[in-house]
Amino acid sequence: MPSDGPDHMSSQDFRRHGYALIDWIANYWERVESMPVLADAAPGQIRSQLPNSAPEAPEPFESILSDLDKIVLPGITHWQNPNWFAYFPANSSPPSVLAELVSAGLGVQGMLWSTSPAVTEIETQVMDWLVDLLDLPQAWKTTSEGGGVLQMSASDSTHTALVVARHKASAVNNIDASSMVVYTSSQAHSSIEKGARIAGYGHIRLIEVDTNQAMVSSALDAAIRKDLDSGLTPVFVGAAVGTTGTTGVDPIREIGIIAATHNLWLHVDAAYAGSAMICSEFRHHQDGLELAHSYTFNPHKWMMVNFDCSAFFVSDRKPLIDCLSILPPYLKDEASESGAVIDYRDWHVPLGRRFRALKLWWVLRSYGAEGIREMIRHHVSLADYFASLIIEDSRFELVAPHPFALVCFRCTAGPDATQALTAAVNATGNFYWTGSILNDEPMIRVSIGQTRTTKEHVERLWKTLSDLA
Ligand code: PLP
Repeated sequence: MPSDGPDHMSSQDFRRHGYALIDWIANYWERVESMPVLADAAPGQIRSQLPNSAPEAPEPFESILSDLDKIVLPGITHWQNPNWFAYFPANSSPPSVLAELVSAGLGVQGMLWSTSPAVTEIETQVMDWLVDLLDLPQAWKTTSEGGGVLQMSASDSTHTALVVARHKASAVNNIDASSMVVYTSSQAHSSIEKGARIAGYGHIRLIEVDTNQAMVSSALDAAIRKDLDSGLTPVFVGAAVGTTGTTGVDPIREIGIIAATHNLWLHVDAAYAGSAMICSEFRHHQDGLELAHSYTFNPHKWMMVNFDCSAFFVSDRKPLIDCLSILPPYLKDEASESGAVIDYRDWHVPLGRRFRALKLWWVLRSYGAEGIREMIRHHVSLADYFASLIIEDSRFELVAPHPFALVCFRCTAGPDATQALTAAVNATGNFYWTGSILNDEPMIRVSIGQTRTTKEHVERLWKTLSDLA
């Protein structure tokens, strides 16, 4: 006798477990501050608690849920802890989590407009909203020549830009990627180098930076000319508004003019700092953006949209679609052929795509632009406050400007003291921050951006580091 199929969780049980799970998440957020920020797990500790093979028989959901506390939490580093000062923030928020639930519940694939028109049209509209909210060039709207699309990560956006630029350059010059050159600063995020490698570029030049950690545009121009003289083909410049190391800001306008002179593709990586542009006082940092061909920033860093949600914009969608559109018969579709719709499958590497725009839409609606502005300004003012404490204490010195909410400093006693302090503060378990290297010397990055971080948290960090220094 054939069975009736697997014993699915009933609607009634789904409701019961779902409510319990929402309670669990709310409870987690309430108690996360009391947990050691950095996971205190030994390598293999979590895996060793899982059986060697997948379960043959179904397990009750209660026991699955109880393993969240028993097995999962001890292996979690708490990015949502307000004492999070490491890397950059990766904030979650209640409306974002609820939207994720809906997205999973709908379980749709938005690869074509017709595979869920709402997935495409809400994304298009919200991306056009971002153009106005962040004062990006109007040409980047889908109502003009450009457009925006959500990707998993800034690395994906940058990789896509590199592929499109390579495709465009080879169509014009009929040359191989092995002679093509990518330029970016020595402080650029590794995703540019990685993307260039994946896309098959033959050369990457890391251009020097000035004392503000900004790309020296004259050095860029000189490098391009040198490569041209050697018979290579300069193709792509990756500039940053807010580098990962120190939030250095490249001179976008100067770089854009040089890129235009030599007919190069200009991509701007504002993965972290892009969210700050919702506040008009930071927009001078993106002056010249109208010269860019593509741009990326991550709402999943500093806009309360949980990972993954990276915005990618192009000033002209035609080269993007020309490069990425391949139409097998099984994807042919009446709506697509009408030309009246967007099929986002042609805007990035994967075919399938989930309903990411829902969480961005719900976050923007739940907090409003003014709520997000307030959060950004709050973090920037805390960073200014923290920097002022560093400046006033002769045991420390700032090592770079702090245009947003990242403060980089070192101990004046030398590299060993800086490294010892980095480790000592983390060893308390009460905070997590990350060290890095600048100009061959260790430094400490204090990234203030967790949604619940208050002045009291910053003061406690200051007191701890001051006592341990
Ligand atoms: N670009 C910059 C400037 C970054 O700071 C980061 C990550 O911190 C990235 C790119 C990579 O972002 P993602 O993890 O979304 O690929």
